[in-house]
Amino acid sequence: MTAVGSPHVVVLDRLPLVAGLDLLVVADPDGDPHGDPRPVPWVAAEGRRAEPGDHAAVALVALLAEGSRQVGRFRVTSWQGAALVGERSFGVDQTNESVVVGERAVVKWMRVAEPGPHPAPPMLAALTARGFAGTPRPWGLIEWQGPDDAAPRLLATVDTLLKDAVDGWTWAVDDVRAAVDSGSTAVVEESGARLGALVADLHAALAGTGRAATAADVAAWGADATADLTQALAVTSGPAHDLLAARAEEVRRRLAVPDRLVGSPLILAHGDLHVGQVLRAGDTYVVTDFDGNPVVPAGQRTTPQPAALDVAGMAQSITHAAYVLRKHEPDRPVADVRAASDAFVSAFLTTYAERLDGLGAAELLEPALIEPFRLRQVCREFTYAATHLPRWSYVPEAAIVDLLDEPPHDPALDHTENR
Ligand code: ADP
Ligand code: MG
Repeated sequence: MTAVGSPHVVVLDRLPLVAGLDLLVVADPDGDPHGDPRPVPWVAAEGRRAEPGDHAAVALVALLAEGSRQVGRFRVTSWQGAALVGERSFGVDQTNESVVVGERAVVKWMRVAEPGPHPAPPMLAALTARGFAGTPRPWGLIEWQGPDDAAPRLLATVDTLLKDAVDGWTWAVDDVRAAVDSGSTAVVEESGARLGALVADLHAALAGTGRAATAADVAAWGADATADLTQALAVTSGPAHDLLAARAEEVRRRLAVPDRLVGSPLILAHGDLHVGQVLRAGDTYVVTDFDGNPVVPAGQRTTPQPAALDVAGMAQSITHAAYVLRKHEPDRPVADVRAASDAFVSAFLTTYAERLDGLGAAELLEPALIEPFRLRQVCREFTYAATHLPRWSYVPEAAIVDLLDEPPHDPALDHTENR
C-alpha cells in the first residue's frame, strides 16, 4: 500500500484508464479497517480526484471499447464502447457520482465499493443477453475483487443516456394532476398500462434467473415484514407512531404470507422498484437503477425474490405520487385524486398480469403477495421518514390508513381464492 497525494489516501489498487488518469481503489478514508474501499477516478499528475471535465469518464468509455477482460484484480465487462468526446456533471440529486459522456453515455462512479456480489452485474448481464429493451442500453461495468473478497465489488457502471428523461416522481404526479383536471382517467390508464407492460417485460426477461421458493424463503418474507413493522414502531414518534401503534395488530395480521407459496418461482427481481426508477422521455419508458434494495447489504441483494415484490413496490409508489400531489396542491377534491390514483394502479396491475400471461410467464406472479408487500413497503417508509426525511411522514401515514380501511381492488387478485 502506498499513500498518494494526501496522507489520507491509501491506494489498494490501480487501473490505468489512459495516460495520466487512473481508477484507484482506495482504503476507507476514515481509516476504518472494516470500512469499504472507495473507487476514485484520479488525476495522477496532480494527486487528486478527477472531476467531471477531467475526462476520466471519457477514458472509461474508451476502455470499454477494447472489450471485456480481466486486468489484475479488475474485471472489465463490455457490451458496447465508443470514442466519445466531452463530459459533464449530471447535476441531479444522486447517491453516486454520475457523469454524462459525449451526450450519449452515463458513467456512474459508485460512492463506495460494497462487498459483493452486487446485484447490478448479473441483472444487466441477464437483461442484455435476453435483449430486454426497457432499460437504457448498458455499455459495461468495472468490478474489483480484493485479496480477501469472496465476490467482486462494483466500482462503476456505464449506460446509454436517455435524453430529456424525467423520473416518475415528476411525471406520475403530473399524470394524476392531468387526470383530475381533465375529469378523465384516460391519461393515467395509458401510463399505468405502459408501466404494467414495462414491468411484465422486465420480469419475463428475468425468468429463470432465480429458483423455487423454499420454506425458509417464505418464512423469511413474513419474518422480515414483521421486523420492518417492529423497526418502524421503534423509530417513529409523535402522531406517526401513534397511528402505526394503533393499527399494529392489524398490520401484523395482514403481513402474513401463506405457506402454500413454497415452490413458487423466484427471480433476480429489481428490488427497489418505484415510479422514481422509471424514466420517461416522450413516449419512451425505461426502468433504471439495478442497485437493488437500499436497506439490505449489497452482498445479500442477489437473493432471489418474488416478482410480486416489484409489482407491490410500483403499485404502492403510484399511490404515493398521488399523496405528493394532494400535499403540495391541496385544492383538488381528495376523492378525485383518489379515483385517479386507483385507476392508475388498476391499469398497471391489469396490464402487468395480462402481459405476463401473454409472455407465457404468468406463474411468476403470486397475487397473494402484493398486499403484504405493499404494507411492508409502507412500514419501511415510516422508518425512512423517521430516520432520514421527517417531511415524508405524511405519505406512510396516509398510505397505512388507505391500505387498511379501503383496500385497493387489485384486479390481479380476482384470479385467486387466497386473499
Ligand atoms: P444514484 O445511484 O446516484 O441514485 P441512479 O442510477 O438512481 O443513481 O440515477 C440518478 C438519476 O439520474 C435518476 O433518477 C435519473 O433521473 C438519472 N438517470 C439515471 N440513469 C439515466 C440514464 N441512463 N439516462 C438519463 N437519466 C438517467
Ligand atoms: Mg437511485
